Amino acid sequence: MPEPKKPTGFRGRWAWVDLASRTVRVEPADPGYGRDYVGGRGLQARLLADHLEKTGPLEDPLSPQNRIVVGSAALNDTAVPTAGRGSCSFVGTMARSPVPAAWVPGHKPVYGLVTHSSSGGLFPNMLKRAGFDQLIIDGRADRPVRLEVVDGELRIVDAEDGLFETAQGRRVPRKASEITDFLASRIKGGSTLTVGPAGWNLVDFACLTADYHRNFGRGGAGAIFGSKNLVAVTAYGKDPVAYDDAEAFKRFGQEIDKLVRASVDDPNRTASFRPTTGTTWWLDRAFNGRYLGVKGGYLPWHNFDEGAFDPADYDRVSTDAFLAISGKHSVCNKCRHIFCTRSAKVETGPYAGAGVRPEFETIALWINCCILDRDAIFHLNDLCNELGVDTMTFGSVMAGAMELSEKGFLSGFGSRLRFGDAAEMVQALKDIAYAANGLGRLLGHHSDRVIAEVAASAPSTALADIVYCTTTAYGGLGYAGISPKAFPGMFTAYGTSNRGRGDHTYAWTIQAEEGGLKDARDLAAYVAEGQAGKALVDSLGLCDFFTADITAEPFLSLYRALTGIAYTPGSLKECGRRIYALERRMNNLQGRDRTYDSFVPAKLKVPLGHGAHQGRAVDETFYNSVLDAYYDAWGWSNTGSVV
Ligand code: SF4
Repeated sequence: MPEPKKPTGFRGRWAWVDLASRTVRVEPADPGYGRDYVGGRGLQARLLADHLEKTGPLEDPLSPQNRIVVGSAALNDTAVPTAGRGSCSFVGTMARSPVPAAWVPGHKPVYGLVTHSSSGGLFPNMLKRAGFDQLIIDGRADRPVRLEVVDGELRIVDAEDGLFETAQGRRVPRKASEITDFLASRIKGGSTLTVGPAGWNLVDFACLTADYHRNFGRGGAGAIFGSKNLVAVTAYGKDPVAYDDAEAFKRFGQEIDKLVRASVDDPNRTASFRPTTGTTWWLDRAFNGRYLGVKGGYLPWHNFDEGAFDPADYDRVSTDAFLAISGKHSVCNKCRHIFCTRSAKVETGPYAGAGVRPEFETIALWINCCILDRDAIFHLNDLCNELGVDTMTFGSVMAGAMELSEKGFLSGFGSRLRFGDAAEMVQALKDIAYAANGLGRLLGHHSDRVIAEVAASAPSTALADIVYCTTTAYGGLGYAGISPKAFPGMFTAYGTSNRGRGDHTYAWTIQAEEGGLKDARDLAAYVAEGQAGKALVDSLGLCDFFTADITAEPFLSLYRALTGIAYTPGSLKECGRRIYALERRMNNLQGRDRTYDSFVPAKLKVPLGHGAHQGRAVDETFYNSVLDAYYDAWGWSNTGSVV
């Protein structure tokens, strides 16, 4: 009998982990899934759908019935630039609104959305080297456990006492760096993905942290690990990727490498800024139009009230301000040329320390809290990595809490939060992560629960005012760092993203809108196409900043040389649409329809008072016309259901 052909590109093995029975089943991967859903995010969407289609809507994402899948894609651990991005998928905790919410017109319960998170670092590639494409994790362990994935074997082991400490009266996992170091001493050369105290305390926007500062950030993956009594996954292995045609892969790989290099060398491409400024060039572009922008005026300020503020204040938190504390590159495994991440160091003062430079979205959303202290932003970012908190949702939650606090609605919870007060924001972060007090426990929950709890302690006439402060209402993740008032296309991207309102990564329209795109149908088509394209990028294991065309030559030949799968431009694009529509269908099952998509927070209907976009606000009528065209572009019903 000839030896069966070794899988190429993919590792070809999935591990089914049942924490309740402490059993592991290793099975060959389904090659049909790999072809039709590509890998990474797409494959995981299929694995979640197989589960959800049987169990019906999952009403509580923190129940043992939630499935979380962690893994990689065919390109991961190859020499293709940025091929170090892994995937994690689950039903999210933040994007939900499960009980009646009188503040949402026509409210329907949304139980949590299918969420994909992408992370770089070393962990995804190391998991693949350790012998598995996907870990499919179900159930809840009866005591704290961790997973060891070493050289083709997967073990569930009891979490050691040394992984825990008592903080604020609770036994919680240590900070991410301490857990990573502890497990590195157990498994030499291993890479660790860990929950933080926030996830253990079921904070709805808790993340998972890999390799000290890489995160499966949005949607609540940390809370899912916490709900499963799962502390960490450590991977180690040396198995290299196998190629269908190694010579051809090398040849096409060199062509791709040249294309990516050329984009970085071209001063008219945004890729050229990344090795120096990373993502922070967007700060200047959003504030004043520098870096190939137009005129700025859309960097959110004071809980999304404005998109501009005093330029003298801005200098303290500008692109250059963060460049001044930047050090050497500190990039994901297999990154080449683009190199967006740099170490950073604050030498003196209360926030002195060493870590990595924060990302644009993080900084923007903390500027939205009127924090104009660069060193405090650096420190808060470091603390979020250590405690396992999604920096972006934290920023949105803080902006709302500051406004609620200044209006007196949080006095019964002991809040001293104020716009611009960095020290109180640092304290609030610890209070939330450690569920240390009434304020911390309140703010760690999804927003509609926060609104209900705050409203219960206020006069009934105050409800509208409370809701006004909370732009994360009705299952929002929190709007990202581009003012939602300035760009109707971006507002559509925010409103329709499969992983929840406010997400900016599934479609991105700013350059197109600054270039004049404004017709409703054109905006809708652009958003839909972006969403399908991004589903492919995530499913290929690449980074958003990869610059070669993934649906054209030489990329398609490269992929065929790796996997033996021959996509055409059309068939690969069709995979992107299939993946996105599958996620949407699961979200329909979870309660999402047009009611959710069309919700516009009252605050966003109030025009910007200053700056280049003065007078602009979300126009609900126009937005609904874009939504009509958007559903049409996808072929969904006018109520937003996949048919
Ligand atoms: S460009 Fe940045 S995020 Fe992307 S792979 Fe490289 S270091 Fe990681």
